[in-house]
Amino acid sequence: MKCEVIRDLLPVYVENVCSCETRKIVEEHLEVCVQCRTEYEEMKKNILPGKRYIMMKRR
Ligand SMILES: [Zn+2]
Repeated sequence: MKCEVIRDLLPVYVENVCSCETRKIVEEHLEVCVQCRTEYEEMKKNILPGKRYIMMKRR
């Protein structure tokens, strides 16, 4: 999976509105790609802190 594709998916992934399939793809990529993970961490900071906490707990 290309990084550009993942970057496109990150916003919906962070917002938690993507499908299970998409989540899996993004998660698997984040495991192996530090750059996208950093991007994801940055994006998470920009959404509500409360929501972010819930998302982390749910994992
Ligand atoms: Zn990547």
